[in-house]
Amino acid sequence: MILAVTMNPSVDISYHVDPFKLDDVNRVEHVSKTAGGKGLNVARVIVQMGENVLATGVLGGTIGEYIIQELNKNSIPNTFLKIEKESRNCIAILHGGKQTEILETGPALSEDEGKACLDKYEELLSSISLVTISGSLPKGLPADFYCNMVEISNRRGIRVILDTSGEALKQVLQQGEKPFAIKPNTAELSQMLGMDVNNDSNSIQQALKQDIFQGIEWIIVSMGSEGAIVRHQADYYRITIPKLDVINPVGSGDATVAGFAVALTRDNPPETLLKTAMTTGMLNAMESGTGSINMEKFDHYFDLVKVEKID
Ligand code: ATP
Repeated sequence: MILAVTMNPSVDISYHVDPFKLDDVNRVEHVSKTAGGKGLNVARVIVQMGENVLATGVLGGTIGEYIIQELNKNSIPNTFLKIEKESRNCIAILHGGKQTEILETGPALSEDEGKACLDKYEELLSSISLVTISGSLPKGLPADFYCNMVEISNRRGIRVILDTSGEALKQVLQQGEKPFAIKPNTAELSQMLGMDVNNDSNSIQQALKQDIFQGIEWIIVSMGSEGAIVRHQADYYRITIPKLDVINPVGSGDATVAGFAVALTRDNPPETLLKTAMTTGMLNAMESGTGSINMEKFDHYFDLVKVEKID
């Protein structure tokens, strides 16, 4: 079973308001409310791929309860640590082809809640073959919190795919215990390294030569419609994907992580791992829902992905 961790989940609310009037009353007819958070997208896609997953992380209050209800409705097995403070709402206002977002930072965890979270994580690992950790850390936890999770998993020989950014990613990469895989996009790489990394194999290869990436088995640098550049041990691959009729690419990175996790648990060879990860990312981009794929299209798009080894 795959464990999908989300430390700062949300209820994602989208309001269709046209026209959107600033400093005035806006009445909303079309409202959608879904359980959000990158790890929950990962869990949703794993379920759609027919594999066992357990969603975990921290939740609080009535918003937390709503997230659990939504996960249950979608048959996503879950077990969250209940925290004292209320989980967050994230609001997207869709107006005139534009999107204005209002994102709550979310609840702050106490030190005890942080410790309880690590204890729960360690307990869960007894029935887990692989872990995905996605998204930002909630307030109150130290920036090296994911280092602890990686260390606990490595001690038990359980592989971790880490998809986070900024300081939380940097802290993990600077410590001794490395995750099995990471999936930054080029913007996240640039931000973390404090240098310009663009969608170009030379630029990415140059960036990945830095010492902090040593010891990570797989680094998938995703580039949206341009596919990905991947480092596996000492080998580099360019992955090219077909042009798609994109409906909503949000969450494609999470779908990529899900596909990669599923292929790893199936012991697929490198080329199949990479083609699966790209295909699930693409399938997500072709659906309106975030963290949603249509598996009936899988084989067709899988065959269109090209994996090429580069120097
Ligand atoms: P998010 O943060 O929204 O989850 P991300 O930036 O982490 O996304 P992307 O690089 O945008 O991840 O997308 C991951 C993969 O999904 C890509 O490598 C590609 O396979 C697929 N994908 C994403 N956007 C597109 C697109 N516009 N056209 C085709 N494929 C796409």
